[in-house]
Amino acid sequence: MDKKSFKIQNNLAEENVLDWSGIQKNLENSFGTEIYSSWLKNIALLKEYNHYVILGVQTRFFRDWIASRYADKILNQIKKHKISIERIEFKIQEERSDEKNIFTKTVESKVTNIKDNILNYNRLNPNFNFDNFVVGESNKIAFLSAKKICTDSSRYNPLFIYGGVGLGKTHLINSIGLELSKNNNVMFISAERFMYQFIKSIKKNEMVNFKDFFRKANVFIIDDIQFIRGKEGLQEEFFHTFNSLFDKSSQIVISSDRAPNKLDRVQERIKSRLSGGLVVDVGAPDYDLKLKILKKKILEFQNTFKEYPNLSEEVISYIAKDSSSNIRELIGVFNRIVAFSKMSKKQLNISDCKIILKDINKANKIVTIDKIQKVTSNFFSIDLEEMLSQRRSRPLARPRQIAMYLAKKLTTRSLPEIGRKFANRDHTTVIHAVKTVERLSINSGEMKKNIDEIKSIILSD
Ligand code: ADP
Ligand code: MG
Repeated sequence: MDKKSFKIQNNLAEENVLDWSGIQKNLENSFGTEIYSSWLKNIALLKEYNHYVILGVQTRFFRDWIASRYADKILNQIKKHKISIERIEFKIQEERSDEKNIFTKTVESKVTNIKDNILNYNRLNPNFNFDNFVVGESNKIAFLSAKKICTDSSRYNPLFIYGGVGLGKTHLINSIGLELSKNNNVMFISAERFMYQFIKSIKKNEMVNFKDFFRKANVFIIDDIQFIRGKEGLQEEFFHTFNSLFDKSSQIVISSDRAPNKLDRVQERIKSRLSGGLVVDVGAPDYDLKLKILKKKILEFQNTFKEYPNLSEEVISYIAKDSSSNIRELIGVFNRIVAFSKMSKKQLNISDCKIILKDINKANKIVTIDKIQKVTSNFFSIDLEEMLSQRRSRPLARPRQIAMYLAKKLTTRSLPEIGRKFANRDHTTVIHAVKTVERLSINSGEMKKNIDEIKSIILSD
């Protein structure tokens, strides 16, 4: 190990002294039981370093909420136990769990008994079933088609369901999987996961297993097929998998965020395969459907908690009217409002709801790399183009590295994607930038201060 990296390692050395349950007790004392049990109780201490700790939170929403309201106080409590801690970082432990009802425990069950552990990812969510899928104008045809193939397969092959985010595609195709898994060997996988396994199998020389495994299914369900856009090798493999399944009359179900003919950068032969069966869309829910979904959620809540959530009809219709057309968000808003009314032990009125909705919108705000670049270059008073240029002088290189670091921390973009946004740099350059900034912000208060300020500008409007 060279000297420099030894120093970094040393800086990051773990030295576990924190008594997390003790800290949690202090948090409960200082915040009170309501806030503590609503927001802070489930925070986990994941890792402890000399100068910072990594805390695990359940969802992105929780992270934003906690970070914007309670982070300083949490840090102060931690400092009381370990003075060297300068900051806390949050890590989301259960990705996408905000789409689940926070009041019901989700148990992921495996459908088929897969011995081989590389194949241990075939999971259906028991909470996404036909019984709790609420049907309205916008999803009726998709719903009926999904039901149909469960009784009368082969007629519609493949079934292709498309529509915008949070409209129930995964829920529907998962329901198909649950229904058919009673009598079939069901394979349910996201296109992204499919690629991950594909690459892993190539690296480990296990392509034969890979092919065998996928082709064994007699129901093959693949989520978010748009992911294969622009990925030639993956398309090749998918095409062959598709054909061999199709040839043996396995039912194939596909979801996508757009129609087959709109899948740019996908081979024509695949597009024609995808549209060769039944193509249906799910649209944005109207008011009636949103209301029906809320009523269903209230029932679920009642069944779980044996009490009626304290929401007036007026508030319920306000949520249905005013929330976005994304059903995932609608449910998120509902959960949040119910949590608040439980916490405050009162019936919320519309203006309470407005405040809560506003906070949620803020917390869910999407940060783009463009915005990060703009704010960062502004902050350092340099020209955006110069910041992205190939010049290596420090006054340009540092802000560039900071912007890359923030792009990694504040967006969900991958390293190669970030590299491309920075005048086509390589992903290793991004890794280097992230490491450099991390190291500097541990050693320099100035650096940390700048980053915090830039971050707060990015997140503030
Ligand atoms: P997509 O895959 O289209 O992005 P999901 O299937 O993940 O959307 O749905 C998002 C959330 O909304 C999930 O919690 C799902 O259960 C819920 N949802 C969507 N549509 C319905 C519906 N018609 N009835 C009940 N819940 C729904
Ligand atoms: Mg989905």
